[in-house]
Amino acid sequence: MINYSKQTIDSSDLRAVSKTLKSNYLTQGPKSEQFESKIRKYTGAKYSVVVNSASSALLMSCLSLGLKKNDLIWTVPNTFVASANCAILSGHKVDFVDIDDETWNISLEKLKIKLQKAKIKKKLPKALIVVHLAGLPVDPLELKKLSIKYKFFIIEDASHSIGSKYYGKKVGCCKWSDLCVFSFHPVKIITTGEGGAITTNSQKFYKKMLMIRNNGITKNPKDFLKKSIGPWYYEQQTLGFNFRMNDIQASLGISQLSRINKMLKLRNKIAKIYKKELKNLPLIFQKVSKNFFSSYHLFIIRLKKENRFFHKKLFIYLRKHGLFVNLHYLPVHLHPYYRKLNFKKGDFPSSEKYSLSSISIPIYPNLTFKEQKKVINLLKNFFN
Ligand SMILES: *Cc1c(COP(=O)(O)O)cnc(C)c1O
Repeated sequence: MINYSKQTIDSSDLRAVSKTLKSNYLTQGPKSEQFESKIRKYTGAKYSVVVNSASSALLMSCLSLGLKKNDLIWTVPNTFVASANCAILSGHKVDFVDIDDETWNISLEKLKIKLQKAKIKKKLPKALIVVHLAGLPVDPLELKKLSIKYKFFIIEDASHSIGSKYYGKKVGCCKWSDLCVFSFHPVKIITTGEGGAITTNSQKFYKKMLMIRNNGITKNPKDFLKKSIGPWYYEQQTLGFNFRMNDIQASLGISQLSRINKMLKLRNKIAKIYKKELKNLPLIFQKVSKNFFSSYHLFIIRLKKENRFFHKKLFIYLRKHGLFVNLHYLPVHLHPYYRKLNFKKGDFPSSEKYSLSSISIPIYPNLTFKEQKKVINLLKNFFN
């Protein structure tokens, strides 16, 4: 099977991990710190925290904001469930904003209208989680303006998009957001097996997250609320979990990050070939405007006319011929759990239509030209 995405592991990765396995630190230690420093340098953010998954990173982000119980957090339906679950797990309420029909990211038009209505009803969100789908960043300028006008925090779910750029800046720089979350799951741009990271420019959020990651504990004497009674002293000041990344993962992350430019280049090259070779088929691609650079975590093809039967037929045809294609995403609000919260079919029509017409086809750095040719020919055959 040719997967829609997968990891690229080379001998330098193996060496890095094996060196850590022979060292003193297996849990969080010097390699995690080094990985954090590399992420700061790479993105340009002031602070970074590495954790055991992006799902944990999203939950930690919500918890670090210091919101009140039942405050509203908004996100999009066209995402992995973790982008919405984090709002509920942190004690808040979730609502969704529908997507744009060309970028398949949050529609800033629909966001504006929803904010205007929410203001009248006094139900404004306290935070918004945007998702840079497939690696295409949401326009941060308009978003930032709205966040100032309506006073909400911005969390970027950049699970797809380490290495993506907007207006010459890297996603994760947090110039226009409060927190930014990356995933290092094997299908994503770089991997640590499982893992994630958060970047921020806020020292307050950073310190809060360090504690949450470590069961609510601080060992830094400067932060103690009470007087230290000895060198064994530490304080639990909040509730937290064990969200730590270990040094085995971090050493893989460091090694992977050193090759990220090459991986981004290869993903972009594959995307360019798809766009050229598939341009005569009745398909639409995600619109990447100037001022934006996509990491191309996913290459999504969308049927020009949505037709659920035809969509299913194409999906099954590709799977049957050895392509492990996938759908990103089933709209979150239509999952049984969210239906119980009173969301229903028809609530977010653009996301629903998108899910009945889109398929993620194989894209990853080691996809060979021959394999890509197979994908292209299968698609051409299907439509002929
Ligand atoms: C992968 C992904 C996550 C979760 O990442 P994990 O590291 O697997 O927890 C969250 N949001 C989006 C948009 C993702 O694609």
